[in-house]
Amino acid sequence: MKFGIKNLRIDDGLTTITVEGSRIVGLQPLPNSQTEDFFDGKAYWLLPGLINAHDHLGLDLLPPLGTPPYANSEDWGKHIYHPESSPLKEIWQLSYSERLLWGAYRNLLSGVTTVQHHDRGHWRLSRLPVRVPAYRWLHRPGSTLKGQWGWNAQNAPLFVHCGEGIDPGSYQEVAQLQAAGLLTSQTVLIHAIALKSADIVLVQKAQSGVVLCPHSNQFLYGKMPSIESLQKAHIPVALGTDSTASGSVDLMAELRGLRGLLSDSALLAMVTRNAAHLLGVPRLGVLKASHPADFVLLDRPEATSQAEALLTAQPADIRLVVLAGRPMLIRSPFIAQFAQKLQRVLINDQPTWLTGSISSLLKRTEKYLGKRLYFAQEISI
Ligand SMILES: [Zn+2]
Repeated sequence: MKFGIKNLRIDDGLTTITVEGSRIVGLQPLPNSQTEDFFDGKAYWLLPGLINAHDHLGLDLLPPLGTPPYANSEDWGKHIYHPESSPLKEIWQLSYSERLLWGAYRNLLSGVTTVQHHDRGHWRLSRLPVRVPAYRWLHRPGSTLKGQWGWNAQNAPLFVHCGEGIDPGSYQEVAQLQAAGLLTSQTVLIHAIALKSADIVLVQKAQSGVVLCPHSNQFLYGKMPSIESLQKAHIPVALGTDSTASGSVDLMAELRGLRGLLSDSALLAMVTRNAAHLLGVPRLGVLKASHPADFVLLDRPEATSQAEALLTAQPADIRLVVLAGRPMLIRSPFIAQFAQKLQRVLINDQPTWLTGSISSLLKRTEKYLGKRLYFAQEISI
């Protein structure tokens, strides 16, 4: 597929993006004579496809579960896991493959094109409407090491829940990871709430990264990691939603919740280039000729920068999501140009065209869960 969209806003002014196959081949203002066949971008904001650095894609149909606060994630897990009762009973009627698809759609609906999936590997991961880069994973430092083999795992970054809790055991986890030889420049700690000053030094020396999921942390433990300490130590930080069972509704909500704590541009970096670096896919998260064509168009006419556009946006402001050069989510005014192969659904009454077999998935899901999904309010054919 080859196409161009002109009249798009970036921080430097208006630009034109040209896509060929899966890549961006041009990103610069072009004279009118060269863009006659291009689509009009209506001065929408152009941003890289967002990167959600921590999610459990098979758990994203769940509403927030439990009666917090908890001491650590194991306490929470034991308390909420009742597959014989609602809501797990109904959600577990869907296959893992179907639940992974819903996890991908909940991300796509908020402009996410790449997700770090924290769970076992599965054939479906290569056929989701979002990217899932290669990864290794470990539930916690103390858990069995066999869990660390993930999806196309060789040489991939190792993601591990670490310091997720407020009990003394959680404060031992960085040391445990180091003792096991697993604190390296390939390691990414998720949550990092229970970090002592000495742990921050260890993480810094090892050149490991950190993924924050503040909404999930506040919900389960009433405590956030010290973002300031991590920044002072120059530890690379990205942002994740966690699953909907404890985390935010979507990545846009997670970002809005942090607005004011960090600059808008720092928050944008956490869901684009910083996240791309930690996930081991540095060509994502930066829009540039020759890079993969993963991008989002946002309708935020009042915004004065790309970061502000994102930080003030709702999912309904998304006009187009493109992944590897292919439109995955389309809304007006791009329907005539792109929507032929996509399926139409209504999301909170807004017509939206989505990639994949969303109609049959919705029918199957409605049988068990009705029309209201936790992350999308209302979605119907
Ligand atoms: Zn998690």
